Amino acid sequence: MPFWSIGELLKASSDYLKRKKIDSPRLTAEVLLSHQLASDRVSLYLHFDSPINQGDLNGYRTLISRRATGEPLHYITGVREFWSMEFLVDPRVLIPRPETELLVECALKTAKDIDRQEEILILELGTGSGAVAVSIAKEIPDCRIWATDISTDALGVAKENAVRHGVENRIVLISGDLFGALVGRSSPLFDIILSNPPYVAEEEWDSLPREVKEHEPRPALDGGEKGMKFLAPIVRGAHEFLRPGGRLFLEMSPHQTEEIVSLLESSGIYDDIGRIMDYSGRYRLVTARKRKADAKTPKSKGL
Ligand code: GLN
Repeated sequence: MPFWSIGELLKASSDYLKRKKIDSPRLTAEVLLSHQLASDRVSLYLHFDSPINQGDLNGYRTLISRRATGEPLHYITGVREFWSMEFLVDPRVLIPRPETELLVECALKTAKDIDRQEEILILELGTGSGAVAVSIAKEIPDCRIWATDISTDALGVAKENAVRHGVENRIVLISGDLFGALVGRSSPLFDIILSNPPYVAEEEWDSLPREVKEHEPRPALDGGEKGMKFLAPIVRGAHEFLRPGGRLFLEMSPHQTEEIVSLLESSGIYDDIGRIMDYSGRYRLVTARKRKADAKTPKSKGL
């Protein structure tokens, strides 16, 4: 019986994925084959001429055809790298995007400037897989993070990720809708509030890639009219939960930047309002600092 070597199989399957218009076909073929063989990509090259057994061949074919029909690579492998760590992902949660690492970067910079003995308190709204909260908890040993999500399914994944990275005792997972999750809990005032809420505008939904709209959880992406359904109430409510001098960081779509900035400015509650670009040079985060109590505070215009 003819056999397939690893090298031949990679060539044939990446050609196939290319014909199916899948992004990065060669890399995808390598990731899926190393997943099937429970090895890493380097060992594929070390065993380039070795034959594949029938069981692995069948398993690999199934993985390739799942990817060819649009299932996201990371749901197939069950993991996604974020902030150089491996996170479990499945269709209960959005697959963390590289640009969301900006939220982690911002939190770390802010935490460095906090000169206090007690632990730094951080609130993340809509934690999903927990990638942001876990990365921050891992980087800042003296912080405690309250991480909310309306989806208890998502909180299950976040819990697994927190345990996987040994930070579960510093992340408080809470189910509920935005700040509503904190109602009835004597929540502290936070040094940092951050969120990557659903912000895809309803009008943009149809233009999303098939693999996103057919496989990722819609409630984690769909931001309603103009994508502001969650961003607006977060901007309106955050100041009640922030310490004076505390910072808010929001991920959003570039076209939402000016609306969010103007909501923040017109509130009179914040200063140091800024826009932060992602790696493709488009505004992706908005940041603001709650004014210190002793600063001249213009009257709130009632956000
Ligand atoms: N950046 C994501 C996307 O374009 C959207 C994430 C979100 O809505 N929070 O798929």
